[in-house]
Amino acid sequence: MRQKIVAGNWKMNGTPRETEALLKALVAAGRTPENCAMVVCPPYLVLHLADEILKDSPIMLGAQDMSVHDRGAYTAEVSAEMLLTAGASYVILGHSERRQYHAESDQLVNAKAKKALADGLIPIICVGETLEEREADRTEEVVGSQIGGVLAGFAPDMIARSVIAYEPVWAIGTGKTATPEMAQAVHRFIRNRVADLNQEAAETVPILYGGSVKPDNADGLLSQPDIDGALVGGAALKADDFVAIIDAA
Ligand code: PEP
Repeated sequence: MRQKIVAGNWKMNGTPRETEALLKALVAAGRTPENCAMVVCPPYLVLHLADEILKDSPIMLGAQDMSVHDRGAYTAEVSAEMLLTAGASYVILGHSERRQYHAESDQLVNAKAKKALADGLIPIICVGETLEEREADRTEEVVGSQIGGVLAGFAPDMIARSVIAYEPVWAIGTGKTATPEMAQAVHRFIRNRVADLNQEAAETVPILYGGSVKPDNADGLLSQPDIDGALVGGAALKADDFVAIIDAA
């Protein structure tokens, strides 16, 4: 059985005060689901604080990006080692906002994912098509090419230790969600592409759906056979909503 994961991407939200309030509410909700990892990915600056608040809780920590480098003259970058010492065990890579606003390529995401795995972090590697690409019937072409690029040179065990997130760009933060059937079709397609690289790893790798996941659509999405959890943006900032999505998973 594949590991289920619900991860919250807080994006650029979370002052220390907000972080404390939200995490204490999540801890108080007291969820300890057996086959579902619960992950929160706050901004770098509050990772240490989050680690302190979550130390006796099953909720795990992730970051929203990391540098491909170990250390040195890379102003404003944060290394895998720094994330690990701050308590993170996951890192989101290649989010569409990084691709769009920071020109991150599949090649860079691939290099970051290899670095994350080598240093002991679990990469949550994001792929997804834009509205224009979907409307031009290019979803499989675009997502297939992203999968080939971000997983290039991965040994089977590296794929199996990773997490893939399918996030249609048109569904992120827009309130528009892929229907469960639309999302399942792309998840199946992704799993088949991964199976072209390695059959066993394709059965193991969790594939999360992201894009306006909310308590009222989580059940339908998360009951699909190839949807192994959710990467949640806006709804991860409300404890009740995030808990409801975990309950659905
Ligand atoms: C995200 O940014 O990863 C995301 C899925 O955001 P939202 O849930 O707000 O669409």
